[in-house]
Amino acid sequence: MCGVLGVAGSEQAGRELYGGLLMLQHRGQDAAGILTSGEIFHLLKNRGMVEKAIHRKSLETLKGEMGIAHTRYATMGVGSEDEIQPQILSFPYGIGMAHNGNIVNYRELAKDLRLRKRRHTNTKSDIEVLLNLFADAVAESTESTHKTNDSINVEGVFAAVQKVHDECVGAYSVVTLIAGEGLLGFRDPHGIRPLVIGRKKRKDGAYAYALASESNALRFLDYELVRDVKPGEAVFIDRDLELHSSESSSKSGKTDPKPCMFEWVYFSGPESQMEGVPVYGARLSLGRALAEKIKDRIESQDLKIDLVAPIPDTSRPAAIALAECLGIPYREALIKNRYVQRTFILDEQKERERAVEVKLSPILSEIKGKHLLLVDDSIVRGTTSRRIARLAKSAGAEKVYLASTCPPIVSPCFYGIDFPDREELVAFNQALERIQKKLGVDELIYTETKDLQKALGLKGLCMACLDGNYPTAIDQAESFQEQRKKDRLGSQA
Ligand code: SF4
Repeated sequence: MCGVLGVAGSEQAGRELYGGLLMLQHRGQDAAGILTSGEIFHLLKNRGMVEKAIHRKSLETLKGEMGIAHTRYATMGVGSEDEIQPQILSFPYGIGMAHNGNIVNYRELAKDLRLRKRRHTNTKSDIEVLLNLFADAVAESTESTHKTNDSINVEGVFAAVQKVHDECVGAYSVVTLIAGEGLLGFRDPHGIRPLVIGRKKRKDGAYAYALASESNALRFLDYELVRDVKPGEAVFIDRDLELHSSESSSKSGKTDPKPCMFEWVYFSGPESQMEGVPVYGARLSLGRALAEKIKDRIESQDLKIDLVAPIPDTSRPAAIALAECLGIPYREALIKNRYVQRTFILDEQKERERAVEVKLSPILSEIKGKHLLLVDDSIVRGTTSRRIARLAKSAGAEKVYLASTCPPIVSPCFYGIDFPDREELVAFNQALERIQKKLGVDELIYTETKDLQKALGLKGLCMACLDGNYPTAIDQAESFQEQRKKDRLGSQA
């Protein structure tokens, strides 16, 4: 998972992109980069979180009114510096690109580019393939019509995006800078990863535009949220700040919206909204749905709960709503150490386990002797849940119940969330009682899939990790997964 951002017509593009990246920091902490375009490209990128990767003093070097930026959570490649985004090419235009998602068939595409187009890719990252594929397509579709001093042929740019849709399998929300020409953004035909458009009036009366993974970045930069980029759509803001849109579509000519449910459940910031659905509101609804599920048992005293506590931070709104609905006290029984990374984002199992130990501290006075209902956003590997249950018991809880706002995750994600191995998933092929036992909790309560759908209120959703119904072909997914594992092992050797 990653965060992407682009601005066009900004009076201080470099600074805005930096500020916006800080708002998208939760989407990736491995590396960050900013690219702007004046007469030439200006690029700053490095490993680490935004403030470490990009020195504030260097922002002066980011000239120009247009730019793109990226914060990276590596789910592809080997984590080398060469893979840090944005990536650039100098032909047929200066093209810079950053994306969020995974191209499942990137290896086949890389091979094809090498054999048919003599384009050499130098990393094991899908962005390089996407960039070369787009550059090749844009050369074919725009070069013959682009004369000196003329602006770029926008229809040709959209035709190149269509070519990308025709060739790529997977999830991709992309921001692209075409030097001296404009800012392009597009989403895959299912719109699996988010991308929103914002605008604000400049002093000269024209509109500046921004594209971002999440609306919280737009708000921070004073751009008004206009709408989501539609699944399969491309938008291009040209050098005169005119916005062009082409609802490019998949080969069949139809789009089938399948935004990732996990954006609302776990990944996106609570202050964001996508597809018209506020993340915070969705999480409140998920808490209410959990309350409905156990209400009768509480009333009939089949289940006794003294207090409800979130496993911070994502599940907080759900825990608040659940406690409100049941009329049970809500407490912050576990305090988060803010100076360690989100465990889910850490790469290695050992690192994850160690991080859990330092991540949460129990408030003994609240927990001792209590029947505690802990609320978590989701249970993936179960590592965190198991350790937290143990922590709560060692802090004196008499009973530890665990409620998850996400139904059981039983299938891998090939679209940019880091749980690609079935065997790593605690719920894979397991009955509820067995998962409960593995986690060491007295009872485990999952949100129902229908309640998740209802809470988000969207007709189409990707829920493939819950039900195995993938929105794209996945015949190349096994080799994608194998390669990913090999890359990871290779990078550790
Ligand atoms: S498989 Fe799950 S995590 Fe991956 S995109 Fe679909 S809903 Fe999101």
